[in-house]
Amino acid sequence: MKKIACFSIPAHGHTNPMLPVAAALVRRGDRVRFYSFAPFEEKIRKTGAEYVSCDAFLPELSAEEEAQLKAVNTTEMTLQDLKITMEMDEFLGREFREFRPDAVYTDSVCFWGKLSAIKHGVPAVVSTSTFAFNKYSSGYMKRSPKETAQLVFGLPKMSKALKELEPYGYHVKSFLSLVVSDNDTDSVVYTSRRFQPCVLSFPEHYAFVGPSVFSAAAPEKKKGRPLVYISMGTVLSDCPDFYRKCIEALKDSDLDVLISCGSAVDPASFAPLPANIRMDPYVDQPEVLAGADVFLTHCGMNSVSESLYMATPMVLFPQTAEQEAVARRVKEIGAGVRLKEVSAGGIRKAVETVLSDSAFARAAAECSRDFRACPGPEGAASFIENAPHTVGENAFLNGLKRRNFISLAAYLLAVVALVPAVGFLIGWKYVWIVGAVAGVLRDPVSKMLQKCNYNTLSRKYRSKNGV
Ligand code: UDP
Repeated sequence: MKKIACFSIPAHGHTNPMLPVAAALVRRGDRVRFYSFAPFEEKIRKTGAEYVSCDAFLPELSAEEEAQLKAVNTTEMTLQDLKITMEMDEFLGREFREFRPDAVYTDSVCFWGKLSAIKHGVPAVVSTSTFAFNKYSSGYMKRSPKETAQLVFGLPKMSKALKELEPYGYHVKSFLSLVVSDNDTDSVVYTSRRFQPCVLSFPEHYAFVGPSVFSAAAPEKKKGRPLVYISMGTVLSDCPDFYRKCIEALKDSDLDVLISCGSAVDPASFAPLPANIRMDPYVDQPEVLAGADVFLTHCGMNSVSESLYMATPMVLFPQTAEQEAVARRVKEIGAGVRLKEVSAGGIRKAVETVLSDSAFARAAAECSRDFRACPGPEGAASFIENAPHTVGENAFLNGLKRRNFISLAAYLLAVVALVPAVGFLIGWKYVWIVGAVAGVLRDPVSKMLQKCNYNTLSRKYRSKNGV
């Protein structure tokens, strides 16, 4: 029997996938203590884990801070996360001394879980509730200019907050080192190797266990009236205007529609609803998806994984860079279309497109089979019990590193060769321009080269190994 301490932030999307894993650990005879918050108490206790309330450590939020958190502002989320880490330090110190966990299983952005595991010298396994993102796979994320600006302007604030952690014994190099998927951290990722972008760039410290869902339901698409399920997840669900457009789009059709509208929106404010449409603040989503024919989703990783697990094709309406990456991958495997126009006409057209072409449902069904063949929560539990993991040499990653080094060296040599050429042809007083341009281009060029190298090597690897 092992003792496992679990940590998550107060968010459904981050806590939900950890629950079936906690239940699996309990089934295997482990003692599991889950540090979480009131909205999750009941679900956690159902897994058989002990629940420890951390509500007392949540900071009072100003209206502005609350609005920023609702808008998924990375800087604000990080600052709050760091504040909670400092608030919890003393309490967690006592807990670690008393409970003496053999391993910590912590959400990847739950800094108090990650950092306290390091501080107290306990092996940690990170729960990654989206794709694993490193320098290769993060190419799938397209940040909007607003998101990029928020991040850039937020960096000084975050660095200052990171310095405040020092006296508590938490030493963090940079914000990025806290959130990026590195090569040394044992990580559970709730998707398959096939669905994870750039999967070969991740070493064996990564367990791609497939979606973590409680539902035992199998996909069962009934004949007759198709069911359209609509949800914007649990964070961005306060969007009554969008629901109004959905209702306008799908009323008086041959479709049944279920909208999960979140707790901030009152379904009564939409009365009277057309006979074919129902609205509910919260539904058992995996169960609904088992019978749904199309899912209009904000592309949260859990929602998309559950949809594919239940072989349900999607209309993709991502709102953040991370959701953008998930949407892109769904589109690549052919299991959904993007919502191009956010209007009643655009919504109707996208839903009809997915319903009228069975190729979308076939692609989702193929992914469902792939997901169901993954190790699942049991596999995750075994990975956690056996942490820390030592991994051997990875020939693919070594080859990739070598190639990246050679191509960057070739780029720098080309720049050096360009200096005399420009000097002779245009004039020596202009050579500084070559240096300046090469400096500015270094980062994008090196990213492009890394991407090309990954693609070339992975093609070779796949054809050699027949995968
Ligand atoms: N969820 C649910 N019922 C609802 C809406 C959402 O059970 O009515 C669950 C859903 O199954 C998923 C999670 O909430 O596990 C949402 O996570 P996701 O990553 O998709 O989005 P987020 O809410 O984090 O934006």
